[in-house]
Amino acid sequence: MSSASERREALKDLLMAARACTRCAELASTRTSVVFGAGNANADLMFVGEAPGANEDLQGLPFVGAAGKLLETLLGEIGLSRAEVFIANVLKCRPPGNRDPRPGEIENCTPYLIRQVELVQPRVICTLGNFATKLLRGDPAGITRVHGRAEVRTIGSHTTRLFPIYHPAAALYTPRTLESLREDFHALPGVLALPPAPPGEPFEPPAVPEEVHERAPAALMVAEQPVPEQLGLF
Ligand code: URA
Repeated sequence: MSSASERREALKDLLMAARACTRCAELASTRTSVVFGAGNANADLMFVGEAPGANEDLQGLPFVGAAGKLLETLLGEIGLSRAEVFIANVLKCRPPGNRDPRPGEIENCTPYLIRQVELVQPRVICTLGNFATKLLRGDPAGITRVHGRAEVRTIGSHTTRLFPIYHPAAALYTPRTLESLREDFHALPGVLALPPAPPGEPFEPPAVPEEVHERAPAALMVAEQPVPEQLGLF
């Protein structure tokens, strides 16, 4: 197993590859930045949201808008800061007009997410809302049914505990959802205190319905840009 500093270097290489990605032609041509993810590259706790919004696309960082503020508040309530966790998304590029991610886009972007999990090696992954939950559980059950229950899952080569919770954006204007999200958040320290998850079967990305498959010829191209500012965050 590689050391934390080797994994951090590999995460930087992955960031550079993601920055040059053109697998989704539409997203690559409309994005301002690739929002790779940020935080502690050796975090015990990882969050996976849906996709960058307008603010995230402009700043190149995940969860910088109102939903991000709520995430930070809830983290503070359980004694954690944003810098201690790693935050990523299912899609690294903003879907225009904040439309839902398409199946082909999710398929194109999932290898980045799996590699991020393998490199950060979190003990617990909180999936935020339906897209991340369905993808990483490999099951179509919705967040209302499965939130707040920890489950062992192997993502790529890394076995971890998934803990699905509501997406903070869904809780912004719905007090009941906020209450539920807060309750699940307050259960998180207990999930983090569980013994490391035992190794299991490797995760195979679920079959994605036939729809738009926008593959560029080159799979992962390595960028020639300098390492960006956001690397300071991990
Ligand atoms: N919503 C998400 O799912 N991800 C972000 O980064 C911001 C808002």
